Amino acid sequence: MRIVFLGAPGSGKGTQAQRLMAEKGLAQISTGDLLRNAVASGSELGKRAKAAMNAGDLVSDDIVLGMIAERVVHDDCKDGYILDGFPRNLTQAEALAKLLTDLGQPLDFAVLLDVDMDILLKRITGRRTCSVTGKLLNVYFSSQSDLAECTNAGGELIQRADDNEATIGNRLTVYREQTEPLIDYYRSANLLQVISGEGEMNEVYGRLLKVLKI
Ligand code: AMP
Repeated sequence: MRIVFLGAPGSGKGTQAQRLMAEKGLAQISTGDLLRNAVASGSELGKRAKAAMNAGDLVSDDIVLGMIAERVVHDDCKDGYILDGFPRNLTQAEALAKLLTDLGQPLDFAVLLDVDMDILLKRITGRRTCSVTGKLLNVYFSSQSDLAECTNAGGELIQRADDNEATIGNRLTVYREQTEPLIDYYRSANLLQVISGEGEMNEVYGRLLKVLKI
């Protein structure tokens, strides 16, 4: 099964994709993660991407499309995958459609995780990743025991460089202007499912399984 996750920054795409990967064996392909790894490794690609990411702008389409074309043919994708954070604009969506047609791997679903703006802001500013377990946490919403699990393991709660107030405003504007039109694009293609991304992670996951019929 091949799925695109749509939704604003903080809508829970990464969290839900991680769970689908763990429980259903689908690969999670997060262009944000791939780009952050490239920046951390200091590669040429990472250097090209860094400024746009820090400003909350989109990285150029050619960089992202190259990464995706390489990634979807990996072994772990043979039973399906979730595209998390890609496509982010119409050019990318059209390029993806062409790539998947050429590969004979059409998309099955595009799922929009719908979340109110006030909740998004808290989710983004509170978001942390445990430096040891890699688990996604939130200082406002995670339980004390989940937060303690990280610190007890000697981990630190790391905040993403672009999860700061200054950058968030731009990321949300970029989402509205460039990514939101994909909702109609996938609706027209008869691939769109909309679920509420609000509430407990388990509830959202349940809604997801229902629309994916798995
Ligand atoms: P994310 O982790 O999905 O929120 O992505 C973090 C940042 O990486 C974004 O703000 C963009 O700068 C960049 N990025 C991630 N995915 C894409 C994409 N599909 N196209 C362009 N830039 C992207």
